Amino acid sequence: MASADTPASAAAAIPPRRPAPEVDCPACGTKTRFEPANPYRPFCSQRCQAHDFGAWASENYRVAVVAPPDPDQPPRAGD
Ligand SMILES: [Zn+2]
Repeated sequence: MASADTPASAAAAIPPRRPAPEVDCPACGTKTRFEPANPYRPFCSQRCQAHDFGAWASENYRVAVVAPPDPDQPPRAGD
């Protein structure tokens, strides 16, 4: 018998087109797809995105760090 079927390779584990990963909407926790088709990602909707911005505006997400960065120190190179 000729081996017509190619053996399963690592490519089988990683499909060329993976579906967009599902993430929890930070605002309401609804599962939503993190994909370009969703302009509000990682939120599920514009409503939730606006809700989050509103939360920032009302200081619900206040940052602990209040000290301004030292101007003498170069900014940390991040990515
Ligand atoms: Zn949401």
